[in-house]
Amino acid sequence: MLNIVLFGPPGAGKGTQSEKIIEKYNLTHISTGDLFRKHLSEGTELGRLAQKYMDEGNLVPDDVVIGMVDEKIKENNTSTGFIFDGFPRTVAQAEALDRLLEEKKTPILGMIALDVPEDELKTRLLERGKTSGRVDDQDIQKIENRVKVYLDETLPVANYYNGQEKFTKINGVGQISEIFDNICEVINTY
Ligand code: ADP
Repeated sequence: MLNIVLFGPPGAGKGTQSEKIIEKYNLTHISTGDLFRKHLSEGTELGRLAQKYMDEGNLVPDDVVIGMVDEKIKENNTSTGFIFDGFPRTVAQAEALDRLLEEKKTPILGMIALDVPEDELKTRLLERGKTSGRVDDQDIQKIENRVKVYLDETLPVANYYNGQEKFTKINGVGQISEIFDNICEVINTY
């Protein structure tokens, strides 16, 4: 199975690139942000629970996120591969993902990290906020908190995969198609 983690700070372009990757490689997309927003729009209990964290740009507790991903993996048990987008966001989530995939006897083959400077991220998120309807994209303080949470809690996940020799960094600034070609070059080595 082709299991990939697409990594990067908020606004790095993970969603955009995921769409292109799933189409080319026929993968199942697991975006925890998208899943939470779906729960929110459907008014589920999980959505209500997640909302207070999301609106402030804080992380939803690990056990909630891991349970949701576990369910999603089990729902797609005939899939030929998964792309994880916005997950794992903490080392505890990365460890849990390894355990979940061990049950299926199929590992993560690699993490691809999109590298984008902080100033560019803030500009992109504020721009997205004009049309996305996402409250967490519309306020510079919330955006700054998300970047801070990323640096404090999520960046160590890159070291986790680096320690397993599964980490590749790619420049996330430039043409979408050019970034995509660079991602494919990495995936084709898996
Ligand atoms: P972005 O990467 O643009 O910040 P996402 O759509 O990935 O946005 O996530 C939006 C929000 O959903 C996060 O700020 C967080 O509150 C919550 N969230 C998404 N994925 C996770 C995760 N793996 N762990 C904890 N919280 C998460």
